[in-house]
Amino acid sequence: MRKPLIAGNWKMFKTVDEAINLTKSIKAGVYKVSDCDVVICPPFTALAAAAEVLKGGNIGLGAQNMFPETEGAYTGEISPIMIKELSCRYVILGHSERRQYFSETSTFINQKVKLALKYNLIPILCIGETLEERESNRHFEVVKEQFDESLADISAEEVVRGVIAYEPVWAIGTGKTASPEQAEQMHSYVRRLLNEKFGQEAAERVNILYGGSVKADNALSLMRKANVDGALVGGASLKAEAFAQIVQAAVDACSAEANK
Ligand code: PEP
Repeated sequence: MRKPLIAGNWKMFKTVDEAINLTKSIKAGVYKVSDCDVVICPPFTALAAAAEVLKGGNIGLGAQNMFPETEGAYTGEISPIMIKELSCRYVILGHSERRQYFSETSTFINQKVKLALKYNLIPILCIGETLEERESNRHFEVVKEQFDESLADISAEEVVRGVIAYEPVWAIGTGKTASPEQAEQMHSYVRRLLNEKFGQEAAERVNILYGGSVKADNALSLMRKANVDGALVGGASLKAEAFAQIVQAAVDACSAEANK
């Protein structure tokens, strides 16, 4: 059985002082949790301060992006070595906001995934369709294309070290969540793609997170689905109490599954 993972994407929110306070509150809210991996992804500027607060605790740290080179003349960019130095174990790659506002392509994201793996970072690879693509019934095709291109030339041994987040763009920051049935349908499709490309053993090991307006009150019904292995949480990860409740929902969904 896969251990669930709840990752908080803070996006471009929180100054260093605010990040310290939020990290402390989240730490206090989840300190007893061991049946679920918990990760926070503050902005780059707050990573060092958050790492200090997280020392010795059970919460992992992640960056929201990285550039696919180790160093060089890339003004404004951050390398995998730099985020590792700040104690990051995870990195979100290919978030739809990066694809939309910074024109990131799946081919470019593939370079990032490869370098993240090379430096032993855990990539949280985001894939998902827009509303227009869903309404024109192209959502499976779009997700397959993003999956194939972002994971090109990756081996089964490598893919199991990463995480996939299915994030329908129409559900991100909109308050519209995919229904548990819609999420499960796409997650089981992604599991099938993993199986076809990497084999059954690898496919069974990869966590597939759902992201898109996950809140304390919808988290349990989503995570009760067999192929929903946790969540990538945006807005609700900025409120310690809501985030802790989502973590608890993941633990509850997992123990309900174990008792079946
Ligand atoms: C996200 O930023 O990855 C996300 C899912 O945001 P929200 O939870 O706010 O929809």
